[in-house]
Parts: sequence; C-alpha cells; structure tokens
Amino acid sequence: MIHSLEGAWLMKMIFACPEKNDIFQTQYFSIIHNKGIQIDDKGNKSLDARVKLDTPCPLCGQYHEYHANEIMCPFSGSHEKLK
Ligand SMILES: [Zn+2]
Repeated sequence: MIHSLEGAWLMKMIFACPEKNDIFQTQYFSIIHNKGIQIDDKGNKSLDARVKLDTPCPLCGQYHEYHANEIMCPFSGSHEKLK
C-alpha cells in the first residue's frame, strides 16, 4: 500500500516554516520513522511518518522536522497559499 505513495515523495512538497510562519517548496527531504498508513477509530487514513529536510529551510536556515500530516501536496489544492 505504501508503494503507490513512493513516487509522490520525489516531487516538490510544500512545507511550513514554524519560525517565519510562511511556506516554501522543496524536493530535498527524507522520510524518517515511516510506520506506514494508520487508520484511526473513525476510519480516517493517515500516513504515520516523520519527514526531515535535507537542505536548510530557505526562510530561516534550520532543518525542520515534520509529521507527514503537516505536509501539503502541491496537487491537493493547498498550494493556493503560494503566490
Ligand atoms: Zn524555517
């Protein structure tokens, strides 16, 4: 089930910088602690994994870490926040 997601990780994803309260796009990140798809008691699926930046945040220079749920896919419609 994870296999269908693998290609998605190769594209640019949108991250939020907690320091500057802004968002940026990068394709340089790694998945750490990937536990796969989890289903909660309401039946909602989510990817239980953590993602770490491979390059410093372009906004503040730190290597942020995120839960997979915090990352926005550029094709999900969330990119409207980007100019
Ligand atoms: Zn940052």
